[in-house]
Formats: sequence, C-alpha cells, structure tokens
Amino acid sequence: MKDKIQNAMRNIPSMDKMLSMPWIGRYEAEIGRGSVKSVISGVLDDQRAKILKDPDTAFDIEKISAEAEKRLKRRACKSLRTAVNATGVVLYTNLGRARLAKEAVEAVTEVAENYSTLEYSPETGSRGHRNDHVEWLICRLTGAEAAIVVNNNAAAVILSLGALSKDREAIISRGELVEIGGSFRIPEIMALSGTRMVEIGTTNKTHLKDYEKAITEQTAMILKVHTSNFEVRGFTYSVPREELAALAHANGIVFMEDLGSGMLVKTGDPALSGDPTVSECIASGVDLVTFSGDKLLGGPQIGVIAGRAELVDRLRNYQLLRALRVDKMTLAAFEATLRLYLKGDTESIPTLRMINRDPEDMKKQAARLKRRLSALLAKTRLRSVSIDVVPVSDTVGGGAFPESRLPGYAVSLKLPELGSAGKLSEKLRQLTVPVITGAAEDRVLFHVRTLSEKDEKRILDGFKEMFSLDREKL
Ligand SMILES: *Cc1c(COP(=O)(O)O)cnc(C)c1O
Repeated sequence: MKDKIQNAMRNIPSMDKMLSMPWIGRYEAEIGRGSVKSVISGVLDDQRAKILKDPDTAFDIEKISAEAEKRLKRRACKSLRTAVNATGVVLYTNLGRARLAKEAVEAVTEVAENYSTLEYSPETGSRGHRNDHVEWLICRLTGAEAAIVVNNNAAAVILSLGALSKDREAIISRGELVEIGGSFRIPEIMALSGTRMVEIGTTNKTHLKDYEKAITEQTAMILKVHTSNFEVRGFTYSVPREELAALAHANGIVFMEDLGSGMLVKTGDPALSGDPTVSECIASGVDLVTFSGDKLLGGPQIGVIAGRAELVDRLRNYQLLRALRVDKMTLAAFEATLRLYLKGDTESIPTLRMINRDPEDMKKQAARLKRRLSALLAKTRLRSVSIDVVPVSDTVGGGAFPESRLPGYAVSLKLPELGSAGKLSEKLRQLTVPVITGAAEDRVLFHVRTLSEKDEKRILDGFKEMFSLDREKL
C-alpha cells in the first residue's frame, strides 16, 4: 500500500516540468509567474490528495495539464465581465440589475478619467458636499424637502432606523416582515440598527387600531415596508398611508416607508399600475421614504432617503453615514439618470424601455434572431434542429411586481444531438460571454425583451465558439 502510494506520487510531474509546457508563457504574461506557480501547485496538491485517497488513481499527464490550463484560463480572463440576459427578467439582481443609460455610462467615464467637482464648489472655491449633486434633483422629482444618498437601499434603511429610532421602538405589521434577496430580512435589519421591533396585526390583516394600541412613550416611528417579492391575496387588509400618516403625526412620531423599488414615474403598463410612485407616497404623508437606484428607477446601485428636511438633517449628522457614502462614479451615473427623468426622456432609460416594449417589435426581433440562428446552425453537423418563435411571459424582477407577467416573445430551441435543454443551457452559460437563458418543456428559451442587438451578436458568436466554427466562413 505504502509502496503503491509512493510510486504514484513519484509519477506526479515536477513544477519545473509543468512550467516548461509550451503554453505556459501566455499565462505568465497575463498573471505573472508567481500566480502561475500557485495555480499549478494547487493542481498538483489535488492530485496528491487523490492518490492518498485512492492509490490506484491513474496518472494522466494530459488530464493534469488540461486541468492546469483550465484553471489558468479562468484566472487570466476577466472575472466580472459581460453576460447576456436572455431570461426576460428585466431587473435580474445576479446579472447586475439595471443596465445604465448611455448618458450615465458617459458620465461615469468622464469623472473616472478626470478630476471633478465631487466635493468642491467652483463658485466659492471652498469645500462642497457630494450629496449636493443629486439632492435637488431627487427633491424636484419626488416632491421631497430634502434627500440623502447612500450605498444601497439596505444601507438607507439601516441608517434611517439607527438615526431616528435607536434604543426606541418601531411599529411594523406582521404582514411586512419580509426577506428580500436572502440577506435583507426586516427583523434582522431592525435589530442591527439598534431599533426595538414591535410587531402588530397578522400576516394577512393589520388594522389602524393595532397601530393605535402599540404606540407608547418608547415609540419612535411607524415603519411600512413594501412586500416586494411576494403578494398576499384573498382575505387581506392593510391601513392606507394617509391614515398611518395622520396617526403618526397626531402622536408626534415618524412615519417611514421602505419602498424598495422606488418608481419615479408610472411605467405605462396597466399590469404594473398598482404601486405608488415616490411622489405619491410623499404626497400621502409619508415623512421619509427609502428606495433603490438600480431597480425600477434604472440607475446605478444607490440607496435614496427622501422626505422631511428636519429628519434628513438628523441623518446627515449620524456617524454611520460616513461609512455608507457613495462613490463619485455612482453619483455621476445617478445624476445623469435623474437628468433624463427631468427632461422627460424616459425612453433613454433601458430598464423602462425594456418594460414598455411593444409586443410586435419583440415578435419581429425574435423572428430575426431565429433566422440568424437557423442560418448558423445549418452550417453545423447538427441535423435535428428544432427552432421556433413562441409567446412567453416576462417579468420585471428585482422584487418589483412579483405577480405581473409581461407578454413577450422568445426563440425556443432544441438541439437533441447536444443533449437535454439543461445541458445546452449549461454550455451556453460557460461560454466566454455567458448566455443565461430561460427554459420550458425541455427547450431553451431566448427571451428577446432583455436582448440588445449587440446581445444577439454575442449569442451567435457564442454558438460559433461552442462549435469552434471558422469565423471567416460565417
Ligand atoms: C430591494 C429591496 C431592499 C434592498 O435594496 P438594495 O438596493 O438591494 O439594498 C430593501 N427593501 C425592499 C422593500 C426592497 O424591495
């Protein structure tokens, strides 16, 4: 046994031998000799561990060098890179939520390349504040008296609770104790901020009298939270904002709402008309609202807190704010996005454009993609290609309108010679530019709502890569 292990170990190639492989140089140039060595020693260590577990592990230099090259390739290519979203989910959190408008992208490039007026006031030649670049725009677009921005909406909620309700009580309906995206859970966020949670009512019904009964000397606020990614239907009741505002104000406490998605304008789609805009919330008496910049608003990742000036001022002086402050590239993208709203040019905001797409236009796009894909697949050895344009249901995503379905179109594809739809979608997501698809009834679906023209080309290039076809010939 011991001999067997020793023999097998002896067969493992040396580091020098591995480093003398002809393709090593390419990776040394990309990531440096030290990193190449560390990747290779990882591969060799794994091989040793395998032998210890099973001394009969067959030694195969081809396999070891293929594994080393695979790992080096992964290290040498950019990790955060373009992906194609063919799922029809407009705000796909794991794929980066909102795509930025061209104007926002240009603004980012400009402040990234140059010095800027980030915290400098050219009028007075003295220090300015980074928040000033967007505060007036937020106020203008929402009717709020004042506003402040932080890293994301989760930070906005933690900061507001901490500054206004630390060591005191916040009242919240049991119907709104939500978890969003796995790590944002209202009870835990409240605990983290130092707020004592007072839960009232039931999952489906909470009445005004439940709130009235819960108010004590210790109460700092009434908190309303958008249930975002789920809906309770049937025998339900929640108290209208106007009534909660009146109750809070009669008792000298704050009424705060975590809106989540934060729509600035109605999207135009009747299926999505249920939610109030930020201005409607503020007009109905909410003292402070928090929302995300990269959900329905269609901007960069940022969290907005907007509302009464006296409350926002208390947040400005809360120490935690310094740790949550927003980067200049984010501010540039956010300002540019808000300016599009100011101009009334919401067509230029990709998120809104994709949500409002005309079905006929999507049908045409799907037909075009089908034609291009068919032409490409006809040049392969595949003989049983099945490809169609089909109607599909798309969604907004990002926790907005979980029950609303947007009618769209997709190219539905089945390539039995390559295995199941699951197998094909795996191949597609492992391409240099990953293509993330939908699926139904063992067919892969390319929802066109979320595909730009560039994305269509990326899909075609992806198939060429998959078949290693000669690009010149196609
Ligand atoms: C999405 C969401 C959050 C978290 O926002 P992030 O921008 O992801 O930090 C918090 N509350 C609600 C209601 C949400 O929908």
